[in-house]
Amino acid sequence: MKHFEEMIRQSERYGARNYGPLPVVITAAEGVWVEDASGNKYMDMLSAYSAHNQGHRHPAVIQALKEQADKVTLTSRAFHSEVLGDWMERLSALSGKERVLPMNTGAEAVETALKIARRWAYDVKGVPDDHAEIIVCEGNFHGRTLSVTSFSTNAEYTRGFGPFTPGFRVVPYGDLDALSEAITANTAAFLVEPIQGEAGIRIPPDGYLSNAAELCKQQRVLLIADEIQTGFGRTGKLFACQWEQVNPDIYTFGKALGGGILPISAVCADSEVMDVLEPGSHGSTFGGNPLACAVSIAAMNVIVEEQLPDRSLELGDYLIEQLRQRLTHPRVKDIRGRGLFVGIELTEAARLYCERLLKAGILAKDTHIHTVRLAPPLIIDQSELDWAIERVVKVLNQT
Ligand code: PLP
Repeated sequence: MKHFEEMIRQSERYGARNYGPLPVVITAAEGVWVEDASGNKYMDMLSAYSAHNQGHRHPAVIQALKEQADKVTLTSRAFHSEVLGDWMERLSALSGKERVLPMNTGAEAVETALKIARRWAYDVKGVPDDHAEIIVCEGNFHGRTLSVTSFSTNAEYTRGFGPFTPGFRVVPYGDLDALSEAITANTAAFLVEPIQGEAGIRIPPDGYLSNAAELCKQQRVLLIADEIQTGFGRTGKLFACQWEQVNPDIYTFGKALGGGILPISAVCADSEVMDVLEPGSHGSTFGGNPLACAVSIAAMNVIVEEQLPDRSLELGDYLIEQLRQRLTHPRVKDIRGRGLFVGIELTEAARLYCERLLKAGILAKDTHIHTVRLAPPLIIDQSELDWAIERVVKVLNQT
């Protein structure tokens, strides 16, 4: 086999330079563990940005993949498939929404939700043509497509990519008054992450989401909850909106919806909203393909049958409590999280500590410069978590 340094050199030589990965080449994975090209083992505490809630290569999901691969993989939406309806029914039941629209990536799901919200504003709410506004939050992360990038507040994500898509207003995250002031007669929707993941696991003040939901309802504004990172048990509930009993008008899902095996994303909404789309108005060649649907049904079943939201809640509380007790170095500024979605904010750049964690056998990634994110697969057990805690404490307390 090629040496791992050669593998890295190759991707650096031929690849676009839009990523700066840690220097590890992963060649095998199972459950919470991954292995590098030299046979070293690491615990995965990133879970591919929460796509691996079910753990790497969950046997039930792999089985569904293989069985479906032996039947049919892609039909396109020009025809029906055996599994699409089952998948839609399953996700409709879990989300509580009447209709489901499949896409592939998270960014596509968000784009789709924005298109639906605009159409709803014109066709149902009566906003004058081309005047719909969508309110988003400072520090948001909803993906990398051009319209989604248009309302990012991170200069690194926007520099040199203009001109941008108009029609978005930005308000501070967690500030209800600002939201209220930003709403006009032309507001179609408020797009929000229940917890901002990429911004550094930012949790809004208690009551923010539920009050925002109430405000949106009063003002006839659609609430779009982006649960692409927070969904499917990550925060200790099936969906993070449930922390405040919020039932958004539109959900966007991705990542763990495909069990870390295939990309599949979705927009879920009731008919009153979703029915603004008619045949021809929106689509995707691979959206809702049978292979991804079969994988996704199995992935959702794992979340429910293995009670991963409860496990995430219990072990997440334990993780946060342990870290709060044992991380004593002054470089640790804040420890926060919900479920197994935990951020350790440092007073200095977190990258160096992620490199040290890698050497100690833990895969973690810095987010928003100063924060180390700990988000292991939700199938992790107590002894594995203790193993990780020992190493995190040692690395972050090191003088
Ligand atoms: N929305 C949120 C909240 C995310 O965290 C992400 C990815 O990190 C996305 C959207 C974009 O998903 P994708 O990378 O699959 O396009």
